[in-house]
Amino acid sequence: MLSLESKLTEIKGVGPTLNKQLGNLGLATVYDLLSHFPNRYEDFSTFVNINKLKVGERVTLRGKIQLINTRRSWKRRLTITEALIKDNTGSIKAVWFNQPYLANTIKPGSEVMLAGVLSAGNYGLQLEHPIIETATRSGIHTGRLVPIYPTNSQLTQKLIRNLIAQALPLTQAISDWLPTEITKKFNLPKLGIAIHNLHYPGSVQELKLARQRVTFDELFIIHLKNILARKNLEKYKSQIIPFANSTKELVSSLPWLLTNDQRQAAWEIIKDLGKSRPMYRLLQGDVGSGKTVVAGLACFNAVQAGLQTALLAPTEILAEQHWQTLTKILAPWSTTIGLLTSTHHQTNNQKNTSARELKEKIASGSVNLIIGTHALLQADIKFNNLALVVIDEQHRFGVEQRKALINNKSLAPHLLSMTATPIPRSLALTLYGDLDISIIKNLPAGRQPITTKIIDPAGRQAAYNFIKQEIDKGNRAFIICPLIEESDHLGVKAATTEYDRLQKEIFPGIKIGLLHGKLKSVEKNKVMVNFKNGQTPILVSTSVVEVGVDVPEATVIVIEGAERFGLAQLHQFRGRVGRSELPSYCLLMTDTATPRGLERLQAMTKFSNGFDLAEFDLNSRGPGDLLGQAQSGFLKLKFAELANAELLKMVREAAKLLISLDISLKRWPQILAKARQDSFHPE
Ligand code: ADP
Ligand code: MG
Repeated sequence: MLSLESKLTEIKGVGPTLNKQLGNLGLATVYDLLSHFPNRYEDFSTFVNINKLKVGERVTLRGKIQLINTRRSWKRRLTITEALIKDNTGSIKAVWFNQPYLANTIKPGSEVMLAGVLSAGNYGLQLEHPIIETATRSGIHTGRLVPIYPTNSQLTQKLIRNLIAQALPLTQAISDWLPTEITKKFNLPKLGIAIHNLHYPGSVQELKLARQRVTFDELFIIHLKNILARKNLEKYKSQIIPFANSTKELVSSLPWLLTNDQRQAAWEIIKDLGKSRPMYRLLQGDVGSGKTVVAGLACFNAVQAGLQTALLAPTEILAEQHWQTLTKILAPWSTTIGLLTSTHHQTNNQKNTSARELKEKIASGSVNLIIGTHALLQADIKFNNLALVVIDEQHRFGVEQRKALINNKSLAPHLLSMTATPIPRSLALTLYGDLDISIIKNLPAGRQPITTKIIDPAGRQAAYNFIKQEIDKGNRAFIICPLIEESDHLGVKAATTEYDRLQKEIFPGIKIGLLHGKLKSVEKNKVMVNFKNGQTPILVSTSVVEVGVDVPEATVIVIEGAERFGLAQLHQFRGRVGRSELPSYCLLMTDTATPRGLERLQAMTKFSNGFDLAEFDLNSRGPGDLLGQAQSGFLKLKFAELANAELLKMVREAAKLLISLDISLKRWPQILAKARQDSFHPE
């Protein structure tokens, strides 16, 4: 008897080879197989009459096989199987190459369902390589919403579908870890049903509910973990009494006036640091809004109190950029500021120290503020009295990072996370567990709005001419390449090819730089420096182009295959330009955008503010999207991209309800176990 725990070899037809191939997808048991969810669906739910078929359309139809036979084409070295299918309205030919077994398994007279594209080639109207199956009550590959699974080159969709269809009855045996108090109240399907319907939904509505359930699950655990972690932190002491007067003095020494939003955010943060429980705050501000100086003011207060601050940047280039900015601002206040990355170990007082020496200074407390990459999270870094952690541009921050930084049992640092990712408030509250949020809405005065344009293939040459003009003026241009092949995860190949093409064919007279994720950090640095100083005024880059990079002379950013990127990412890219008083341009290149895709790109031209875009993004994702390619949004979660404001509210209410019923979670051992995984939950 097959059970959820059964090895896949126990399924009929799974031998050692297939088992190994499934293993490559990370699937070992029947339960794993059932947890392998489709990433999209093809809508073959409505049958089309044969006399209504249109060339080029993907269709599904139902009919009787009139005749079927296979012949060999010696010239082309293949076998050709041809069939004639008839329904009440007419008949149509179907062809398959190199599938001679079809003629053995499907006999004339049998009822079949077919799905495919009608083509009008040299041989007349025909379905080429349609999926075919005998017409049972409900199909697996045709006649329904058909699941399309993530797979590798070894396993076909047909094979995965057949296997999952066999295991499907076992979804009934899946126990639901959510208590009925919650599933009932929030109208969520039971887990087993949801999983069943994710694979083989009876309708779009069933699919919607199923996806809602798994999205809920994903967010619920994150939210629960975070609010419990936060409650747990409340027992720690971490007060930093504000130094109001010297803060004012520092602010008046800055080269510009703080904007009102900066002032307000800085004040909220500094006030919060003065409370006895650790702060847990997100500083949101559009790209270029001036978050760094606000964080600098928070660091300043910690330093004045004789306590240490750590600032984590996502890349080395950014760590150095912060180090330079903050050294300028804070060094006059006899602050010792350290920089620790894989290539740099230094303080503002000592240009070259060894990593070991720097670590000793951190441990003794003689470094007040330490700036670095994730290298700062290494276990061998001990702080003397770490009181504040600032994290820049990281989407998933929180519990783990904070845990890594706590060495002193009685002191838990305040946490300030900065992001330009325009996470709508409802999503931020849910993901990060009711944290506090400060927002910098307006940019410093004098910035010009960035002109954003959608460029179709006909406009490409004009765009290149325009770039050339900008370069001739002494400005710089970024060209971002999309990921084209799945296998080319970092897009190195796409960027290299585009680089060659542009250098040879389009801009032979201009030096171009190439940046991608495979370069060593020394090389990356060099590429960035050459771009900054104008030696290579055009930079071709994969999407890894560093977030936060500040090149004021850059006035154009071209984004190739713009429809492939999420709005949040497009907005991040756009933020690489418009960093000076020069007018700037963002050119969205697209040749294949669907009407929906185009609408998204139009939102880019309409909204210049990241928060407006994020709201648009959140509100425009409806069930219609479920049938499309998953949009690459700003979250690395499996389902959360499908969350809407209503679901997010549900998640928070459900967590509140659960905690009010039993904060120890002992009543629900499965939830307790999930919440405890890498978390801070009290023992
Ligand atoms: P982000 O929020 O994207 O991290 P930064 O902190 O890097 O932005 O600031 C962007 C640029 O704006 C920097 O060059 C910084 O010096 C400048 N800046 C910050 N605050 C102000 C202000 N109040 N007035 C003018 N320029 C400012
Ligand atoms: Mg920044």
